[in-house]
Amino acid sequence: MDFRRNPNLDAFRQEVRAFLRDHLPAELAGRNSGVRSERAELVAWQRILNAHGWGAPHWPEEHGGTGWSLQQRLVFDEECVAVGAPTQDGFAQKLVGPVLNRFATPEQKAEHLPPIFTGTRLWCQGFSEPGSGSDLASLRTQAVRTGDHYVVNGQKIWTSYAHQADWIFLLVRTDPSVKKQAGISFLLADMRTPGITVRPIVSIDGRHHLNETFFDDVRVPVRNLIGAEGEGWKITKFLLNNEHASSADLPTLLRMLNRLKQLATQRAGRGALVERHVFALRLARYEAEVRAIAVMVQRVAAMEADNSPATHAMGSILKVRGTELQQKMSEFLVESLGDSGAVANTVAGQRSATCPDQTGDGHGLAAEMFFRRAATIYGGSSEIQRGIVAKTMFQF
Ligand SMILES: Cc1cc2nc3c(=O)[nH]c(=O)nc-3n(C[C@H](O)[C@H](O)[C@H](O)COP(=O)(O)OP(=O)(O)OC[C@H]3O[C@@H](n4cnc5c(N)ncnc54)[C@H](O)[C@@H]3O)c2cc1C
Repeated sequence: MDFRRNPNLDAFRQEVRAFLRDHLPAELAGRNSGVRSERAELVAWQRILNAHGWGAPHWPEEHGGTGWSLQQRLVFDEECVAVGAPTQDGFAQKLVGPVLNRFATPEQKAEHLPPIFTGTRLWCQGFSEPGSGSDLASLRTQAVRTGDHYVVNGQKIWTSYAHQADWIFLLVRTDPSVKKQAGISFLLADMRTPGITVRPIVSIDGRHHLNETFFDDVRVPVRNLIGAEGEGWKITKFLLNNEHASSADLPTLLRMLNRLKQLATQRAGRGALVERHVFALRLARYEAEVRAIAVMVQRVAAMEADNSPATHAMGSILKVRGTELQQKMSEFLVESLGDSGAVANTVAGQRSATCPDQTGDGHGLAAEMFFRRAATIYGGSSEIQRGIVAKTMFQF
């Protein structure tokens, strides 16, 4: 592949920067601290993007998206994260949206796609269950067809942002008598349907991202079935195979690196941290690791179209390396705060009245350090990724 600078991509980066400078309101800037934005901010930003024709930056033009190349999408994500723009609804944009574009009927598309562009319908993902995470095909939530409805009973867990979502896409077992993968279907449900109960799980960072979601005799219209009954596993494989190049979350790594450099050059009182040899060495090492990942992301982006086992394996390597590096760098960020690190454990994006002595630097960093512990679990754990790499190696 060609590693020379691409002038078109440089021009595109300038275009994105100019857009962010002109259209990102000051009150929304700097609000993205590694977790999903609050609903009001996310919706406000989605409206601005949509008004500019960038409501679905990751989708092809024929589905109303920007039609950007993967390289352009990576640049867009990087620039948005660099200025702390609010996040978009990743479940809508990167998971259920592409599924709807590919598998939904015209009626389903007409119902569900416009609110994704306008940000008026937020989504959550109901896949994992107690006992069915890595081994997702073992899921037990049951949907029994009665006339023009499915009656759904069961429990989902770790349902991120279910408490803010308007709709859920979920996997259900419609046929317990066949091979486990063949008996799964893909349903959409309005979160206001009677029988759906959401209970919070507060995670180690002190925030409420996660939930348990219970289904008790929930009546879901058959018109909310995506694809045919029993096709849920095929659709899930499509959904999980999207965009291997983004699995390292390079924009987050670059944001952390920039924050480290800012911290390293501050602290005028006792001299800048970067003047200390051990600190400078460690920073240089992380920078080298981030740059290595950036090169690998380019390589995987170039391979993405062939969708081969090697691309999947490279995506898995990126996931393992990227998430491990996120963890190490977020720990280093907190260590860099020295004494302030101990009081920096406030909810990201909000100042804590109980820690009046915390420095601006430390704001939200410890919360993010704790949250990043989960990065090697969600989206497929590191052990599962290593298994994919090992299996691919055996094929060559
Ligand atoms: C922050 C966060 C957000 C999440 N958000 C969502 C969401 O919105 N919607 C949703 O549906 N799910 C969500 N999940 C769930 C996530 O997909 C699962 O946690 C993940 O798939 C692992 O499943 P599990 O937790 O059941 O662990 P298990 O699958 O039980 O794994 C337990 C341990 O065993 C290891 N292991 C399991 N199988 C193998 C194997 N074959 N080989 C080697 N080791 C193995 C795992 O790596 C892990 O260390 C989220 C999880 C987290 C942490």
